[in-house]
Amino acid sequence: MKWKTTVKHAIGKFWETKWNSEKTEKSTIKFLDIKHSPFGKPHQICKNVSNTVLDVTKAEVKAKLVTRTYTLQHDKSKFSGHKESDLCTLCGLCKEDTKHFLLECTALKDIRDKHLLKIEQYIRNNYSDSESIIDRLEKEDVFLQFILDSSLAKLHHIAKLKCHNIRELECLTRFFCNGLHTKRSALLLRKK
Ligand SMILES: [Zn+2]
Repeated sequence: MKWKTTVKHAIGKFWETKWNSEKTEKSTIKFLDIKHSPFGKPHQICKNVSNTVLDVTKAEVKAKLVTRTYTLQHDKSKFSGHKESDLCTLCGLCKEDTKHFLLECTALKDIRDKHLLKIEQYIRNNYSDSESIIDRLEKEDVFLQFILDSSLAKLHHIAKLKCHNIRELECLTRFFCNGLHTKRSALLLRKK
């Protein structure tokens, strides 16, 4: 049976190399952490989801945001050859890209603040140096990355995340993304 293990490792190595090389070329997957030997191993976004329709829907929203397949005004403008404006239709103040949607749009401030409070509370309850972690995530401009895929290796020097931290943060940030998605969809529907 040794050949089976050898083949499995070779396939895993192939996909790891291929996806990592695509990642350097494609800005669309810059938020996604490609794990060591990823073949056959589900990403944490899928791994920590219960079997309920609601949970799967939430994970789907997050997966789309991480892989940049969640359509925002910036994408609509790009795909229309800039015939459509990239301006956020909710606040009308800035280009609507992933960062604007998740961290900046004033129209989503109330729901964002509610969820951010829970995430900050989690960090405070689990880390003695929580203030420095929150500060560094903001100063080093990696807070968006932390929300989208906290397992990314480049974040490890800021906060050492154990498996259960990654699992719990995944749940909190899944709720965060879905909360903003639900509010944005409701506001867009009202505008029609
Ligand atoms: Zn906006």
